[in-house]
Amino acid sequence: MKKIFFTVLGLLIINTVTAQNSQEQSDSLMLRKIYDMSLMQGKSYDWLDHLSNKIGGRLSGSYQAQQAVEYTKEELESLGLDKVWLQPVMVPKWTRGSKEFAYVETSPGTTRTVNITALGGSVATPAGGTKAQVIEVQGIEDLEHYGREQIEGKIVFFNRPMRPDLISTFEAYGGCVDQRYSGAAEAGKYGAAGVIVRSMNLRMDDYPHTGSMSYGSTPVSERIPAAAISTNDAAYLSGILKMNKDLQLYFKQNSEQHEDVQSYNVIGEITGSEYPEEILVVGGHLDSWDIGDGAHDDGAGVVQSMEVLRLFKEIGYKPKRTIRVVLFMNEENGLRGGNKYAEVAKSKNEKHIFALESDAGGFTPRGFSFDADKAQFAQIQSWKELFKPYLIHYFELGGSGADVGPLKQGDVVLAGLRPDSQRYFDHHHAANDTFEHVNKRELELGAATMASLVYLVDNYGIKRINTDVEEKL
Ligand SMILES: [Zn+2]
Repeated sequence: MKKIFFTVLGLLIINTVTAQNSQEQSDSLMLRKIYDMSLMQGKSYDWLDHLSNKIGGRLSGSYQAQQAVEYTKEELESLGLDKVWLQPVMVPKWTRGSKEFAYVETSPGTTRTVNITALGGSVATPAGGTKAQVIEVQGIEDLEHYGREQIEGKIVFFNRPMRPDLISTFEAYGGCVDQRYSGAAEAGKYGAAGVIVRSMNLRMDDYPHTGSMSYGSTPVSERIPAAAISTNDAAYLSGILKMNKDLQLYFKQNSEQHEDVQSYNVIGEITGSEYPEEILVVGGHLDSWDIGDGAHDDGAGVVQSMEVLRLFKEIGYKPKRTIRVVLFMNEENGLRGGNKYAEVAKSKNEKHIFALESDAGGFTPRGFSFDADKAQFAQIQSWKELFKPYLIHYFELGGSGADVGPLKQGDVVLAGLRPDSQRYFDHHHAANDTFEHVNKRELELGAATMASLVYLVDNYGIKRINTDVEEKL
């Protein structure tokens, strides 16, 4: 009896192991198919070409943003998805107006122009421009040290650079971006006439980098203009200030904040064949800044997300769960699209189990970061081996993406594609964020990497927090 029992048990174990092996084999074949399709017959690069070169910068509320909505909707409709629709969302509309201009005057009549760009959301300078002495600071904390006495009437120059020793350039960005986001609101409290911020860029070059800023609760009449200056010109300004504290900086910008306007998130889905009520989202943001064409930020994420669904259709994979591509509007200066999507999902009681965003550039993919609990993360890590042939190795807990962030609730796992980040801030929010700086293969590898993870989540589902036992993994 005992012997029979052990023989049966042995067979069961062998069966389970064989089943596991064949499952792993079929997963690895599926990943190979996904990568083959993306690399040999991919569409992401052509879509990006159109978005970047035919449409261009897609700032919320602009004509180009509307064109991008129409174009991506049409393209999704051509894929034969089960549903494609537009989700209305009101977005802010800020316009730059004619190009900014700035110069440093070292003595009356002796000037040198410097490269600046208005920060998104900044007020214009007075019609004749702003001209004042400059006080250089290394961050918001410095303002208190100098006080109103030394700041009033001057232009505050925030010059803390991104740290070059940090391997993650996003971490370096995180250590500086408060100067851009809150610098004007804070300097305004000390009576500053304007704000100039060193561009969030690790490289020394002539491109100023824009980005969002906020005046917080500052009354409209007390808002001061804010611009970013290129890293080369920040170094020049800092150097010459050491020799001549009395020099004057002049800048003129013509930006304007308008009433909110109607826009849309673009959504398409393949409805699940077994668990249609369980939803997986893959997305990027359709809007971009206006001074480049938004190829890396976030044209790449948009076309990669569209490609995930196209790859499934092309290889004939029928998802068990519902896979949705969401192209979010207004990530850059408002996050209205991400908030709206989560709000509608909640009001409809939709069950999202997973949301993956690509918003870190179209560079060589390295892996993903996850916002997940321990058991969920262990489940995901068990798939790591499948990615080895594609040099995808980075599976870490951490942030996901701004647009999918508002979906955080209950069991949902959020994730972000993590491409190599070393060159991202050479282009981020600058005039050189353009199509020619995106490499076709790197973009396609990213799309395939995303599709592979979405396939695995679709196939196995996501563990529920605290209910699944870890040893089952
Ligand atoms: Zn972005």
